[in-house]
Amino acid sequence: MKYISTRSAGGAAESGVSAAQAIKQGLAGDGGLFMPEELPELSEDDLIKLCKLPYYERAAFVIAKFLSDYTHDELLEDCREAYSDARFPGGPAPLKNISSNIDVLELWHGPTAAFKDMALQVMPRLLSRALAKTGEKRDAYILVATSGDTGKAALEGYRDVDRVKIMVFYPVSGVSTIQKLQMATQEGSNVNVCAVSGNFDDAQNGVKRIFADRDAAAKLDAQGCFLSSANSINWGRLVPQVVYYISAYCDMINNGTIILGDEINIAVPTGNFGNIFAAYIAYAMGLPVHRFVCASNRNNILTNFFETGIYDRNRMFYTTMSPSMDILISSNLERLLYLIGGSERTALYMKQLSETGLYAVDSDIREQLELKFSGAFCDESETALTIKMIYENYNYLIDTHTAVGLNCAMRYNAISGDKRRMLVVSTASPYKFASSVYAALTGNTADDDIAAPGMLAEYTGVEIPAPLRGIEDRPIRFRTVIEPADMLREVLTNASE
Ligand SMILES: *Cc1c(COP(=O)(O)O)cnc(C)c1O
Repeated sequence: MKYISTRSAGGAAESGVSAAQAIKQGLAGDGGLFMPEELPELSEDDLIKLCKLPYYERAAFVIAKFLSDYTHDELLEDCREAYSDARFPGGPAPLKNISSNIDVLELWHGPTAAFKDMALQVMPRLLSRALAKTGEKRDAYILVATSGDTGKAALEGYRDVDRVKIMVFYPVSGVSTIQKLQMATQEGSNVNVCAVSGNFDDAQNGVKRIFADRDAAAKLDAQGCFLSSANSINWGRLVPQVVYYISAYCDMINNGTIILGDEINIAVPTGNFGNIFAAYIAYAMGLPVHRFVCASNRNNILTNFFETGIYDRNRMFYTTMSPSMDILISSNLERLLYLIGGSERTALYMKQLSETGLYAVDSDIREQLELKFSGAFCDESETALTIKMIYENYNYLIDTHTAVGLNCAMRYNAISGDKRRMLVVSTASPYKFASSVYAALTGNTADDDIAAPGMLAEYTGVEIPAPLRGIEDRPIRFRTVIEPADMLREVLTNASE
């Protein structure tokens, strides 16, 4: 199976590359995102077969449909290690039934207690194999700028992976105390973490500058490495996310809540549009899905887009209690536009977006989107009320992101009268955002970020996940704080170590 760009499918810029090449390269040569030339099919027989398999075998089966240059045995080995009980105690993607027609898919039982682990535990293994498959002699050097969750999940995923090094930059004044501790105490022989004075944009711009610097690339080349990225525009991050939607459908069949062929609805708390797009791919392959609820927080650019067909990023940016969804450019939406509207129009919209911050899709695209997607959002007080209501009515503790998803899902159900089963994706452990969750439940503020998990555990009796327990007692490995101008020097120094 070949991969082509969302902006020039079959065009001159790229005639199609292997999956290994797409994963190694990240972004297509024309600035577009890689997509498979055609989507593989998921048959009813496939689903019947998958129902009987454990998660890692489901994962290998689904991923193999996309990565045709990887053998099934290679993928089985990678998935067995990535989704082991040691890494995901409690299973990688368990379902929790919370009401008569709502199931929650918990994706945060991995090493960093957020759903990014689902992709970042397996993607580094795919990259490591991609180096061998493409005859690459150099090692990959992953650069990440993070506002919190991605950095830690990437560090855990890439630690001690063969032929890969990783450097994470975080803004010294832009991440929570817990997130800072999680990164500063990271273990692994090939990892590096560095704080940058300034905010997230300073760190992000610094990383972008290094990626665009040809002189830096030549120096790194001489040191035997090349730069690569771990963010969610990489196909290697997206394809493992398709798996858990198919797996959840199988679990619902096994539980007897649906029968094979029944349509379900799926609600996803959305930021960069990666997670919900993975659900759409599962549908496009053949999974019976009636509708997708795209749930946003106060940064409701996607809600407006699905209502009007206009994507307009010229607006206020809000900092919310669901920070992983505080995004104004949802990069993976480009892939949906490509599937529905084709590469020519996608390229045009993306050009308009970068030049004016705005584009309006044609009415045929808008109609197609309306058939499958409902946009919805909730504000800060509704998010907090949802956390409290779900805890009190269903005895179930959720984080701030999941609360946005559940709020929008329940509102969709109430307004539409749709009785299909609703699968709501839960993207983080409530303990990852303990201060906000504690405040939502009790109306009181926790003493501080470090004390909040303990206070929340005492109030609810719900256990703190192992990866978040006792991090204040772990030895600090990384204390460096640098100016944005010194980021390149840090990268080059680290490359030669
Ligand atoms: C990254 C993240 C999201 C958003 O996922 P996208 O794939 O970017 O839409 C939602 N919740 C949490 C906790 C996250 O870390």
